[in-house]
Amino acid sequence: MLLTPLKRERATDAVYRALREAILDGLLRPGERLDVAELAGKLGVSLTPVRQALQMLAAEGLVEVRPRSGTYVAGVSASDVRDTFDVRCALECLAAELAIERITREEIGRMKKLLQEMTRPIRTARDRHAHAARNSEFHMILLRAAGNRRLLALYEELHAHIQIARIHAADKEWPGRLEQESAEHRAIVAALEKRDLPRLIEALRRHIFRARDSLVAAVENKTTGESA
Ligand SMILES: [Zn+2]
Repeated sequence: MLLTPLKRERATDAVYRALREAILDGLLRPGERLDVAELAGKLGVSLTPVRQALQMLAAEGLVEVRPRSGTYVAGVSASDVRDTFDVRCALECLAAELAIERITREEIGRMKKLLQEMTRPIRTARDRHAHAARNSEFHMILLRAAGNRRLLALYEELHAHIQIARIHAADKEWPGRLEQESAEHRAIVAALEKRDLPRLIEALRRHIFRARDSLVAAVENKTTGESA
């Protein structure tokens, strides 16, 4: 009784991971139609895990199910990035207010360790994935330290870090901005260590709005490049 669902669960997870990586890396391109039978054939699994994996990806905003049409890789638009990052900034500043007195030295210490790890050079797709995961975790420490479940759920629902990963995969120039990103992260940690809320909010706004503008520019350049 236990073995069947477990096995199916594993196939779903494996399909989910494979498709997620292919979308984040741009191997499956925005707007591309995803045919369940074809994917199942290519991956050597039955239809059910593919359907389930596509549902998980839809919940993350990576695929789009269009009724009576099919399932497609979701697009990334400049306006969506702008909207997402404006809300992200508001939520992160609220987290800052709630976390400023609550965040522990250990949590700040973990942010510092991630900061250091994020200075490693990025040469391969693997490096890029590791960097994206560390950047996400850096911000999640602050969000969790706020101790507000509703806020955490809203933040996770934005999937801002998925957008970052997708845009970076297609943007060869972003490693050139690593030094700037690192300086912004250091300012965030420095303000947290001093428990200086106005400085923390200023540092967060500078970081998130700069990231927003860089990502929007990357999306717009890519669109122009494709149509030219
Ligand atoms: Zn960051």
